[in-house]
Amino acid sequence: MKIFKTVQELTSFRTFTKGSTGFVPTMGALHSGHLSLIRSSKNENDFTGCSIFVNPIQFTNPEDFEKYPSTLDQDLKLLEEEGCDWVFTPSVLEMYPKTVSLKFDFGNLENVMEGAFRPGHFNGVAIVVSKLFHAALPQRAYFGRKDLQQTLVIKQLTTDLGFNLEIRVQETLREADGLAMSSRNVRLDQFQRQLAPVIYQTISFLQTKILEGEKIEEMIAAAKYNLLTVKGLRLEYLEVANASNLQSIDNSYKGDIAICIACYLGNVRLIDNVVFMKS
Ligand code: AMP
Repeated sequence: MKIFKTVQELTSFRTFTKGSTGFVPTMGALHSGHLSLIRSSKNENDFTGCSIFVNPIQFTNPEDFEKYPSTLDQDLKLLEEEGCDWVFTPSVLEMYPKTVSLKFDFGNLENVMEGAFRPGHFNGVAIVVSKLFHAALPQRAYFGRKDLQQTLVIKQLTTDLGFNLEIRVQETLREADGLAMSSRNVRLDQFQRQLAPVIYQTISFLQTKILEGEKIEEMIAAAKYNLLTVKGLRLEYLEVANASNLQSIDNSYKGDIAICIACYLGNVRLIDNVVFMKS
């Protein structure tokens, strides 16, 4: 497995690669969810590359950035075992030799949920993903549905800027008790880890009730009330939306629905979602 630390090393390698390349951008501290993206890429491409870069400009909370887990040696071992062909591990200075002043505007898509609670987050994501796409020149790029809003932003970015590649979105991998795998899960203490499955239980409960025809607003209120009783959990948002644009829906809506949640367990912020069809 080749390891590149500079954009120039990666682009010059990529210019000479024949066949298709699948690309998996990550922030490291890899878990099985990340590795499932690597596997999907390997199934669909001649070559697979991965980036590991904790992107400072997409963090809106300095503590979250400072405490973001880093397990580079272990990550490289896991990628090698999966048969990943190359890894890009740039420094912050390599990615941002100067301060970036570019500003993206994703309209209504970023006025809700993650965009509303983490202002500037998707601008940072869009800048780093654009730079990574330019360097990695992939035919396909792989993202997880766990970050649903991010996948929609990146699809819009890809279309609007005309990146010549396909965005592939893969299902969320979960622990046995339903908790969505996340690099941040290792920051949960034992007590918080025991509480954490309530996140997926809440959105699964809402999904069941909506499919049974219950009123969305009433069910959200009931779920929020229930979460208030979970000591140590602080809800940021719990929303039911049109899955293709994340705008709110009423009870008569038919089509793909997303139920999205963000909450804190102590200082650890976790997100999750379910997407399903209502006919
Ligand atoms: P991150 O390292 O958290 O930026 O994640 C890198 C990629 O892995 C993103 O596209 C995430 O959506 C995806 N990802 C993170 N967690 C999971 C999971 N539990 N299942 C599937 N994909 C995931």
